[in-house]
Amino acid sequence: MSTVMTPAAAARRELSPFDGRLVGPEDAGYDEARKVYNAMIDKRPAVIARCAGPDDVAKAVNFARDHDLLLAVRGGGHNGAGLGTCDDGVVIDLSPIKEIEVDPQARTARVGGGCVWGEVDRATNEHGLATPSGIISTTGVGGLTLGGGLGHLTRKCGLTIDNLLEAEVVLASGERVRAGEDENPDLYWALRGGGGNFGVVTSFLFRLHEVGTVIGGPTFWPVEAGAEVLSAYREFLPNAPRELGGFFAFATVPPGPPFPEEIHMRKVCGVVWCYAGGEEDAAKAMAPLLERLPEPLLHGVQPMPHAALQGAFDEVYPPGDQWYWRADFVKEIPDEAVEAHAKYGAAMPTWKSTMHLYPIDGAAHDPDSSDTAWSYRDAQYGSVFAGVDPDPAKVDEIRQWTIDYFEALHPYAAGGAYVNMMMDEGQERVRASYRDNYDRLAEVKAKYDPQNTFRVNQNIEPNA
Ligand SMILES: Cc1cc2nc3c(=O)[nH]c(=O)nc-3n(C[C@H](O)[C@H](O)[C@H](O)COP(=O)(O)OP(=O)(O)OC[C@H]3O[C@@H](n4cnc5c(N)ncnc54)[C@H](O)[C@@H]3O)c2cc1C
Repeated sequence: MSTVMTPAAAARRELSPFDGRLVGPEDAGYDEARKVYNAMIDKRPAVIARCAGPDDVAKAVNFARDHDLLLAVRGGGHNGAGLGTCDDGVVIDLSPIKEIEVDPQARTARVGGGCVWGEVDRATNEHGLATPSGIISTTGVGGLTLGGGLGHLTRKCGLTIDNLLEAEVVLASGERVRAGEDENPDLYWALRGGGGNFGVVTSFLFRLHEVGTVIGGPTFWPVEAGAEVLSAYREFLPNAPRELGGFFAFATVPPGPPFPEEIHMRKVCGVVWCYAGGEEDAAKAMAPLLERLPEPLLHGVQPMPHAALQGAFDEVYPPGDQWYWRADFVKEIPDEAVEAHAKYGAAMPTWKSTMHLYPIDGAAHDPDSSDTAWSYRDAQYGSVFAGVDPDPAKVDEIRQWTIDYFEALHPYAAGGAYVNMMMDEGQERVRASYRDNYDRLAEVKAKYDPQNTFRVNQNIEPNA
């Protein structure tokens, strides 16, 4: 690159022919192209390579590496810490790589690296099938999967990575490889939880399950019942059948349909359910919790396509809000933790701010902690504290509430956190999140990415 040539101009010259689009700061559309989901993140890449396929990806990786430019990889752009973009470097934007092939006989789906979950869930739902994803349909398949994948179907079908059969990967060398049980098994192991550390995944192959219609929706109680509801929930959930997913939440009832007007904007606690099975069985499975608690404000549970449940919160959380996150793995919720939850849950600073406890048991406990890179198979929940508001003037308030809530609960947590729900919290926290798997991950990293080309992520440093 000559000293007068911008990286975008150099990329245009050196990457030709490039099937996708290269966008630099001087181009129309740059400000749109550099936006990510969390409006708190405002980065200015030197060049955004909107890749049309794996060849484009390999060229962009080679370009960034050879010019010693920071390289970020963007799937759905949802990452709370903004790890799908960077300042002054190259962003590989996978969003044009959208192919989805569902094979109902083999019960698999091949999914392009730039898909978001809504696209996949709708395509598999047409066949009465699903793979476990998250709870918001605009989240990227890439980031969610590589970090682990927690969602409505975790208890029945495991983490998303437990259903990842193979991946097509562009390595830091620009080489294209396949990773699966029988090919590059070390890479396959590391991809299942190790995030974007090992390469750019241009295609995922997922196992599908017979899940079409689910019985889903929220049960809400007044936020003042937080301690009572959470105490009952912590005893109920581990004994519930695997078909029943249900995450605990503190939230505010959104100011619009389908919620009854009289509870709009009311702070609540409750459970968001997903039962993969029939209505009667669902009612039976929920009964032990519902019967021991007072009448709820709302029990909005009904049959719906899995894809509809998965998109149910999309309107509340469109792109462009300010988000500040903290997270922890949790094994137990002692009485003191219940009290602290009730206190901070009732103090949510804005109506979009929330706390969720995602179950990580059932099928997610079947693999051992060393079977995949995701090491916390003995956690019972992933807690996430999210301060959210559209107004940038509220940033300090939502950040402070999130940190205060997290710090009050952290003494009762298991150690690390789900990497997909962490901010930039330093190397020790990443190490704690991978525990005994960290050293093996560092070895795999040294083999596939010795120069740490892929470092805009919850970074695993290559073994020296
Ligand atoms: C509103 C909201 C709801 C969420 N709900 C859930 C949930 O229910 N369950 C859950 O598990 N998580 C959830 N998350 C967290 C989510 O999993 C992470 O934010 C994840 O990083 C998003 O992936 P992405 O592809 O959209 O992000 P990006 O910002 O595009 O990327 C995030 C990271 O993944 C890497 N990456 C992405 N795609 C690829 C790829 N194809 N190849 C290599 N590396 C890649 C990037 O380099 C980056 O480090 C949620 C996030 C938000 C904002």
